[in-house]
This record gives sequence, C-alpha cells and structure tokens, in this order.
Amino acid sequence: MLRTSKEYIDSLRRLNLNLYLLGEKVENWVDHPIIRPSINAIAMTYKLAHEPESQSLAVADSLIKGEKTNKFNSVFKSTDDLVKKIKLQRLLGQRTACCFQRCVGMDAINAIFSTTYEIDQKHGTEYHARFKEWLKYIQKNDLCVSGAMTDVKGNRGLAPSEQADPDLFVHIVERRKDGIVIKGAKAHQTGVANAHYMLIMPTMRMREADKDYAVSCAIPTDAEGISLIYGRQPCDTRKLEGGDIDVGNYGFGGQEVLVILDNVFVPWERVFMYGEFDFSGMLVERFATYHRQSYGGCKPGVGDVLIGATASMADYNGVRKASHIRDKISEMVHLAETLYGCGLACSYEGFKTASGNYQPDILLANVCKLNVTRFPYELCRLAEDIAGGLLVTTPSEKDFRHPLIGKYIDKYLKGVPNVPTETRYRMLTLIHAMTMGLVSPSYRTESMHGAGSPQAQKIMIERETNFEYKQKLARSIAGIDPREDVLT
Ligand code: SF4
Ligand code: FE
Repeated sequence: MLRTSKEYIDSLRRLNLNLYLLGEKVENWVDHPIIRPSINAIAMTYKLAHEPESQSLAVADSLIKGEKTNKFNSVFKSTDDLVKKIKLQRLLGQRTACCFQRCVGMDAINAIFSTTYEIDQKHGTEYHARFKEWLKYIQKNDLCVSGAMTDVKGNRGLAPSEQADPDLFVHIVERRKDGIVIKGAKAHQTGVANAHYMLIMPTMRMREADKDYAVSCAIPTDAEGISLIYGRQPCDTRKLEGGDIDVGNYGFGGQEVLVILDNVFVPWERVFMYGEFDFSGMLVERFATYHRQSYGGCKPGVGDVLIGATASMADYNGVRKASHIRDKISEMVHLAETLYGCGLACSYEGFKTASGNYQPDILLANVCKLNVTRFPYELCRLAEDIAGGLLVTTPSEKDFRHPLIGKYIDKYLKGVPNVPTETRYRMLTLIHAMTMGLVSPSYRTESMHGAGSPQAQKIMIERETNFEYKQKLARSIAGIDPREDVLT
C-alpha cells in the first residue's frame, strides 16, 4: 500500500499520543502551529511516492511478493537501492529545506534486518522471521517508523549497568510469559511524534553485565507508559505569531522529542533482541553506517536551497556579479556537491550482508558524515557573509505590516529597485531559519551531532583503515623494503 500525504496526516489523527509541548499536554497536535510543519515534511515522503517523476526513487519492492512499498519502509536489495536512497534524500532536502525525519526508521529497519539474521545464526533465535512479519505489516499499511537509538547516557564515563540510576539507558525490567517490559528514555528522537511506530535499539556496544540493556523492539508511539516531550528549536515561538514571513520556512520543519518509556509492555512477536549483548555493537554500527550515508543525501539537498537563497540575496542586494561573491557561491556549490559525492561513493561501494540486504561502505560513510560535521557550518558562514547583517536585525513582520511605520521599512530596507522589499524580507528570514535553527533543527548543530558526533566517525575511520598496508607502500617506495620491479 502506498498512502497519499493526506491519508498519512489523517492516520496521525487516530493516534492517542501523550505529548507535551511548552508545559502543556497537546491534544490536537496535528494542527499545532509548532508541530504541523514537521508533519508536512514527513508527508512529502508520502507525496513523492505518487509523483511520476520521483516514483522510481520513492517506491520499492515490498517483502510481500508482487507488492510495492514506500522506499522509507524498504529493505535495500542492491547498491542501486542505496544510490536511489541518496538521490531521494537529496530531492526531499530540496523540496522541504529541513529534516524530513523518516530516514531514521528506514535505516533502523535495514540495520535490524541484517543483525537479527546474524543473531539467529549464532544463537538459534527467531528474531529475523519475527522482524520480517512486523515489517510486512508496516509495509502493508505504509506506516511511518521512527528509529530510536540515543539513550540519555547519564555519566558518559560509565557503562549502562554502572550508572547511579539504572534507567539512564533503556533496559528490560520484567520478563513475562507474553512479552517484556522496558524502561528508560531516548533523547532527541527525530520525528517520533509523527510516527506510528518506534524501533528501539541499544545505543552502544555492551558487555555481559549490560545484558538487560541489549534490547531491540517495535512499539506503537501511543503505547501505554510512553510520554513524548517536544524539543525546542531556536525561534520556535515565531510559529505562534500567526504570520508567514518571520518563520522563514512556513511549510516545513524538523522535530526532535525526548521519549520517556515508563514500564512499556512489548509482546514477544515485536522483540528483536533480548539480551544478546554480543550483537549490540553490530546493530549500532550498522545503523550508524546507514544514517551516516543518509547525510550525504539530505544535507546537500538542504544545501541546494541555502545556495539558492544566498544567490538570490546577492541578486537582491545588487552584488551578484562581484567576483568575490561569485567565488563564495561557487565554494558553496563545491561543498554541497562534495557531500553528495561522499553519499554516492559509499553507496556504490556497498556490500551484501549475510541476510541479503545491502550496507554502504563503512569507511566512506563515516568520511561522508565527518564532512557533514564541517561543511554545513561553512555553507552557513558563507550564506551569512553574503546575506548581510540584516539577517539578524530585521524588524518583525508585524512592524512591516504596520499601517504607520510599515512604509518606512518598505522604503528603507529595499535593495535593488525592481525587487519588492517583501521579497528580500522573505529570503532573509529563510536564510535565518536555515542557519540559526528553526527548520532543521538548524543546519549546523544537527549536522554536528546527528548520526553520531565527530569523534564517533574518527574512531570508525581509524578502525576501518589498513594502516599497515599504507605504511608498507611507503616503505617500498622509500627503498626501506624492496622496491617493486616494474619489469616483472
Ligand atoms: Fe533524514 Fe537527514 Fe533528517 Fe537524518 S537528518 S532523518 S538523514 S533528513
Ligand atoms: Fe538526523
């Protein structure tokens, strides 16, 4: 089944979320002005599955023979599937200019798919078949899945079982005949209030003492015991002002939520890891690789909008032809395309796992994400440089619309004569929203920490690099080891 964007939004109204925002329980969260843009961003993933030009990217084969599924609920069957994922994410970044959230579920689906297969091989369990059954149900109903990995972690220097409070990592608190009960919290969970299900995964490698923390399962977002506490974004209350200029990106936005799991029951058929601590590292690394690949799609896509906005501001300010402006805008293109190149490269170099699905190249996916911790900052810096100081000093939309003083703003904040002041205003607030927060949440901080902070990529890059081979090459060329004889 391929739901339309409208069907998706209507389906959210049937959920019974326990959601808090700005100190209040939100009953009608689908129409809440702070939340709705983030729902619209996910709805775009449903919309593209129905557009003829994007269908080849946004629709994939289902696990159910002869049926199709939305790409975001699909299992990658080839490197071509990985490449299409990146192309779709770039397109979605271009169409929303923000985080469209649904990738976390897609990446969790693929990581759990392959890891459960390997757990079963070693431990004789039946997680993989269970997971496939659950995924068929998700595909059949085109549900939105949110991946939930990041624990709140407490003292970062201690393992889960060593924490003063045992709930700082999600763990199993009870085993019943019909299932398990879990407790803990997941921090800054992307798009979870817009999803039907969340896929719980462990947050790091575990040892035997942490057995109870090695848990993976699927739970409905409105299950009993769950509280969702909505994360703030810079300038978020601008969305409550009723205008459509100061928000910058009126239609779309990201979403991060603190998820509280207070004794949540999960039936056995939705449990995909139960104490197999020896596989928590594999699951984390596989998910991280997929999500680090993902950033090579969404970040250049969002970057395209930022480049377009910056070039437009240069036009409106009458400086587009200045050589240093052209140089800076070309530099922005170079940065965005480099990220895209990394996203494509790790996809083309992907490999088949034992379960049959495909995984991006680990080293290249980590290189991709490490660049993402830097390049969007530079893209923002260049955008701010070209946009000018007005980016952070524009009077409000209400003053601009004011019957007495509005005319002064209109007169004095005009750039080139043929571009209305309002046009310039709108482009400035878009750049403001993209660089200072609000829509992504921020092209910057999310790029730094999403899919793992930079040190996590450095560790993986070191682990995936064959330094001995590189040193051997150098020793041979330097004549320390025997030189290669080109004539043989
Ligand atoms: Fe998708 Fe990018 Fe958002 Fe991650 S940050 S969920 S890859 S859009
Ligand atoms: Fe992210």
